[in-house]
Amino acid sequence: MPESRKALVTGGAGFIGSHLVNRLVDCGHSVVVIDDLSSGQLRSVNQQATFYHTALNDSRIERIVQREQPELVFHLAAQSSVRQSSVDPAADADSNIVGTIRLISACADQGAEKFIFSSTGGAMYGNLDSIPCNEDAPANPLSPYGLSKLVGEQYLQLYHRTYGLDYTVLRYANVYGPGQNPHGEAGVVAIFASLMLDGKRPVIYGDGGQERDFVYVSDVVEANLAAIDSGSRGIYNIGTGAATTIRQIYELLQGIIGFAEEPTLQPRRPGDVMSVALDSARAAAELSWQPSVTLADGLQRTVDDLRRSAVRRTGRVRLSSAAAAPDPKPDSQQPEEEPRNGERL
Ligand code: NAD
Repeated sequence: MPESRKALVTGGAGFIGSHLVNRLVDCGHSVVVIDDLSSGQLRSVNQQATFYHTALNDSRIERIVQREQPELVFHLAAQSSVRQSSVDPAADADSNIVGTIRLISACADQGAEKFIFSSTGGAMYGNLDSIPCNEDAPANPLSPYGLSKLVGEQYLQLYHRTYGLDYTVLRYANVYGPGQNPHGEAGVVAIFASLMLDGKRPVIYGDGGQERDFVYVSDVVEANLAAIDSGSRGIYNIGTGAATTIRQIYELLQGIIGFAEEPTLQPRRPGDVMSVALDSARAAAELSWQPSVTLADGLQRTVDDLRRSAVRRTGRVRLSSAAAAPDPKPDSQQPEEEPRNGERL
């Protein structure tokens, strides 16, 4: 059992963050979550964690960090939609740049031991001449989202130079797995699988030949754990190195689900990067990290989870109509200043 530490996870109600919180709790760490529930859900937050319903770009962040004194900080909260960042770049910057600066600054003030930053590989390098690319490829983001992550990385470098804050940057490829929101635009696996399970035809934009590097969520969680005690001041690609086309993902899911229909094809969306795959040799050498879940296994686990959730949903509907109980308040309507297990701030 590793030594128990106080860990702050921002974005702990989101897809990757909720998996990370579960793993940290299982390891015996004491976990605090900050999330504004803009895309995450309260029910995804582990009951053992102290939860603060607060946006990062809110002045309460300083007081929460001061009160909780985290030793480890995992910063995952972000406006995480590439497309939305182009629709409203200022809102993206408020959340991803201003929010990140507030958090970094508060953590430096309070002497946090390690700041582990969830950055992007998929949206960092732009259109690449050859794949997979390593971390020495020039950063060339094509979206405000990608640029906001690059700025966050550079603020960490600045705060290390000026205040000695230790950090590790993890640049993820396309993360997929159970718990990903199938209604957003982020996760093609979740979107395709959930539509196929409902008997609906997913849309492929372009010819489906766009290549992405799909990394399973538990592997990303392990990369965060590996960065606790290694990778000081390093930037690491976290991917598999394998390029898989969107069409291949479609066909693999068809096989798992038993879905016969062809996709609806629509024109390619402007700004879509054609091919991305990340070389993670540096993470293997310096973090002793490598992906362990194969694409076939990860897709199967994701579909199994979606099937289980559908059964749970059906069960709940039957149960509540039988008991004639009112529906619980949707998570997004939880009052703003009701931290669970935590104090009001
Ligand atoms: P997600 O949208 O599921 O989770 C983000 C969480 O942050 C949500 O719970 C949301 O409510 C919260 N949040 C958003 N803005 C906030 C703010 N200003 N203050 C407080 N909370 C806020 O996204 P995810 O897929 O779990 O991604 C986690 C991190 O990993 C993000 O930083 C994302 O940019 C990065 N990332 C994800 C992928 C991927 O494929 N999923 C790839 C590269 C990088």
